[in-house]
Amino acid sequence: MFSVATVTETKAILLGSQVTVDGFTPRRKVRVITHAHADHTKDIGKSLSYQETILVTEETAVFLKHTYRSLRSTRKLVVLKPGQTYKVPVDSRRGGYEVIKFVKASHIPGSVQVVVEDEEGRTFGYTGDFKEPGTGTPVLQGLDALVVDATYGCPLCIRKYKETMDEELVRLVLELLGRGPVHVYAYNGKLQEVMELLRLHGVDAPYLLSRREFLIAKDLEKLGYTFGEYFLEGSPEAKEIERDGWYVRFSKFHNFRQERVRGSKVLLDGWQFVPVQKVGPNAWRVGFSDHADLEDLEYYVLESKAGEIIIDASRASAAQWFASRLELYGLRKVSYRPI
Ligand SMILES: [Zn+2]
Repeated sequence: MFSVATVTETKAILLGSQVTVDGFTPRRKVRVITHAHADHTKDIGKSLSYQETILVTEETAVFLKHTYRSLRSTRKLVVLKPGQTYKVPVDSRRGGYEVIKFVKASHIPGSVQVVVEDEEGRTFGYTGDFKEPGTGTPVLQGLDALVVDATYGCPLCIRKYKETMDEELVRLVLELLGRGPVHVYAYNGKLQEVMELLRLHGVDAPYLLSRREFLIAKDLEKLGYTFGEYFLEGSPEAKEIERDGWYVRFSKFHNFRQERVRGSKVLLDGWQFVPVQKVGPNAWRVGFSDHADLEDLEYYVLESKAGEIIIDASRASAAQWFASRLELYGLRKVSYRPI
């Protein structure tokens, strides 16, 4: 069967002949989900019907099971840890197979990059969403073809403060906690990442969580995550803590505008390129991102030394611009897909 690395109109990354990543493609045996963000779990119902296996990390399985009821009992959901491999038979008569490998990525809990080696030993990779290339996210090096996420591969998409991004957020939360409760608004995944990050940096106020986030936190703790003290909103303990007025409450990104709350509101927004901005009497927007910025992306691509670079244009706003920018660095085989 034809073996490739490309991106389809339906946001699926195709690696080798048997694997479709972060989108649905018919006649492929395995669907890989690199992480639990909605633009990477697209058409999961179709994959559940038509693919033999849905391959995810333990953390991604936790998020998915709390989002999709149909995934709670299926045997199709198979867990693979970063560093481990999974073999997919290509042709039962000939006995050949492709090998899938997960490599960790710094993005949200459970995020991975994917490498597929086909029957002839050719290697195809996909970065998935990532930040901190070379440290939190190892660069996939020397592959025959590499599909690169380029969400922020756009003009002026540079975070000058990215080395101190964590500290900026912690400093703001600690300062606001001195005045009263703090409500943090973030997307799924980033929320859990920040819950752990604040603990690591000495924020020890109790957390208040919605039922869904509370149950996800319980499951992630079984995998070794540490969130300190947290309580279910509406429980007697949570009500007591609310009366005391010293806590951090976590809520969905989209609740930021409509919620009226006692205390301070902090929105974590990847599309802001300054660290902290006051946007209302008690509201702040923090440029906290889980994505590589333009400089990081260029670093990753140049370090990868891949035979061919394919920019994922289905999730990037300026893929064509980014592809031509890479050509300025002397890279010859650069393209973007879908066109
Ligand atoms: Zn993501």
